Amino acid sequence: MAVEQVKQEEVVSDVILRDVNKIYPNGFHAVYDFNIDIKKGDFIVLAGPSGCGKSTTLRMIAGLEEISTGDLIINGKRVNDVAPKDRDIAMVFQNYALYAHMTVYQNLAFSLTIRKTDPVTIHKQVMYAANVLGLVPYLNRKPKQLSGGQRQRVAVGRAIVRDPVVFLLDEPLSNLDAKLRGSMRKELMQLHDRLGATFIYVTHDQIEALTLASRIVVMKDGYVQQIATPKEMFEYPENIFVAGFIGTPPCNFYNGKIDEKVTKFIHISGAEITLTKEQKEVLKNYGGKEVVMASRPDYVSVSEAALQENSGQTFDLNVEYFEFLGSYKLVYGTFGGERIIAKVDGRDAVSETVMKACFQKEKMLFFDKETEARIRK
Ligand code: ATP
Repeated sequence: MAVEQVKQEEVVSDVILRDVNKIYPNGFHAVYDFNIDIKKGDFIVLAGPSGCGKSTTLRMIAGLEEISTGDLIINGKRVNDVAPKDRDIAMVFQNYALYAHMTVYQNLAFSLTIRKTDPVTIHKQVMYAANVLGLVPYLNRKPKQLSGGQRQRVAVGRAIVRDPVVFLLDEPLSNLDAKLRGSMRKELMQLHDRLGATFIYVTHDQIEALTLASRIVVMKDGYVQQIATPKEMFEYPENIFVAGFIGTPPCNFYNGKIDEKVTKFIHISGAEITLTKEQKEVLKNYGGKEVVMASRPDYVSVSEAALQENSGQTFDLNVEYFEFLGSYKLVYGTFGGERIIAKVDGRDAVSETVMKACFQKEKMLFFDKETEARIRK
């Protein structure tokens, strides 16, 4: 029965990585025991700081890098030893490397031409990609006659004509300016919806990860830290690293301990915050122990209503400066000697010295001081 279930699972997943490791010839272990089941239509974003192993993972899926140990299964077939061109994948790179002497049409057609695909199919596929990407007016232009965004679309189009099961994209927007990145992000989302294909996308930009992904994989030093939807990852990060990596402005962290009776969090400054019923339950084995409390800037309140509701639990936020950003303000300062950022309503009054603030208690998260893992039931 168990075997049957595994088989079925493998058929509905487009891409499976089982205990995949990468050890480079010089002995460097770049990826450790990577496991994921990627379903058809998923938009998976591999995110993490430089050097964490995300490109290596993508390149192993593409077949550009050998898998040291473990299995890669695409459409139910183990493809560790299958050549890249036979893997049913198409890759879009950071430097989209178009052929300068070819027109857009020829660039789009190129991979099919070298595969000796019949001309009718080539034309059909090129026109399909050009339509999907709004490139029809530019088919006779050379790359140098295109804007950065249009060139990027041609690079994506070269992947679309191959009608792959999986699109692999390695930081495809990193060469574009901020405004263009924003609009290309939207285009990529729409394209993904239209094609209904599986996308695996590498970025070190957590905003791209949050906006594009159906699931994010955060990596650090070759290890997967967490695989979750953007919302899950934002609300329930598995550890301090993920909490700090995901979210802008970054999460606030406070050192302190839980009292012996597990009723409150005592910050190193002496400030005390009573725990909710659920937090008492979660922290029941942490009486008298040191923990790290995390509260996102979104969950630090300064409004009259919140302060009243939390009377007795408010603290002094020593303001260093604030930024007015239209509908909200970011207040930067310290709480009990530790950094704090509060994202407050644009209409909330902000002092330039000290102001009262409170944490939205039910949103506070607690992490084990030693392991840095989120404390959960
Ligand atoms: P970036 O965002 O900077 O591209 P990344 O997360 O994609 O980073 P990788 O390119 O996957 O990181 O590299 C992961 C680690 O493997 C890095 O420490 C890198 O120096 C190392 N590495 C990459 N290629 C090789 C190689 N051919 N031989 C040895 N080590 C390598």
